[in-house]
Amino acid sequence: MSTQIQTCKTCFVATSHPAITINADGICNVCEYFKSEEGQKALLHVMKVNRLEELKQIAAQMKKEAAEKGLKYDCIIGASGGFDSQYVIYIATKLLKLNPLVVKYNNGVCHPQSDENLIKACKLLNLDLRIYPVTKFDRLYMKYATKALVNLGVFFTACFSCHFIAVSTVYREARKEKLGYILTNTNFVETTLAKGSHGFMLKSLIKGFFKAGPVKMLKFLYYEVISQYFLMRLKLQYNGFTPRFFRNMLSLHATRPSFLKRVNINDYVPWDFLNVAQILRDELGWDTPRRTKMPYFRFDCHYSAMIDKSFKRVTGFSEHALLCNWFAQTGILSKEAIQDDFAYMNDDARIDKEIKKVLEEFNMKALLSNCLNKDLL
Ligand SMILES: [Zn+2]
Repeated sequence: MSTQIQTCKTCFVATSHPAITINADGICNVCEYFKSEEGQKALLHVMKVNRLEELKQIAAQMKKEAAEKGLKYDCIIGASGGFDSQYVIYIATKLLKLNPLVVKYNNGVCHPQSDENLIKACKLLNLDLRIYPVTKFDRLYMKYATKALVNLGVFFTACFSCHFIAVSTVYREARKEKLGYILTNTNFVETTLAKGSHGFMLKSLIKGFFKAGPVKMLKFLYYEVISQYFLMRLKLQYNGFTPRFFRNMLSLHATRPSFLKRVNINDYVPWDFLNVAQILRDELGWDTPRRTKMPYFRFDCHYSAMIDKSFKRVTGFSEHALLCNWFAQTGILSKEAIQDDFAYMNDDARIDKEIKKVLEEFNMKALLSNCLNKDLL
């Protein structure tokens, strides 16, 4: 069997990525999928869905219920200042004429541009915004998880506390304000990419563990136990000693409380990515650390650079580069059009700079050379 790495003709991925295969025409399996009838249908559904009238009826119901209960807000939106949640805010206010409460949890390593985006948009739209700073146990989880995972060379599980606390903060505020609806979205780009990635992420953690050697194995286990303790404390602080605590102990994402109905906005309105980015820039002053041709996803958290590093070690490409590459795989942009943005997203200098910021914030600069070491896996 040949071990030579092959690159796709119509995008930038190569067979160094465990979920990528290249066919006889030199095209990768993802590009091939999006050229197929099934792939085109899935993509068009996301980009062209038109159920706005149905959504308007749901919005009218929200308004009615909020008025009956004498509430200040019609619904709640958990936002970051990134691409998707910003568009949810835009749809809720401009198209649906709702008055949502906007809530953000800042994990302490958020890109300042993301907070600025959110503050600017809420001011323009006259919305109430609550930004909550990082909590003690979340910070301790992230620090000790980083200390543990640096021994394996991949950081995939260090975001577990954020998965829990970012949404839990929104649920807590919804309860406080007696709100009955939460507006959300699912990012089609990320869900398509995530499909093939969970398996190799887990495998890389196991591989990292067995390659670590006895000293690093013990160090990993020691810090991992401490980090899990702080994650448990975090969940206990939010949920109390209740059935919800036990349910959330076992799941990655916090369970949505039953009083809160979820309305997924991109089930109703088209998510035409390039067009949406333009609307956000023109109408809400949305900005990103670099003006890319495609929406710049996930710039809002510096810790994502640690995930970029991990992806690069396992697949040869950073996660940001893969998100960028998706636009060539779907044919929304050509390979040539994304070339510069792809190089920027995959660039070690950009990734390393952000990792340095995270470690400075955590007072763990001593870990820098280990975090950047390419030969760990
Ligand atoms: Zn391809």
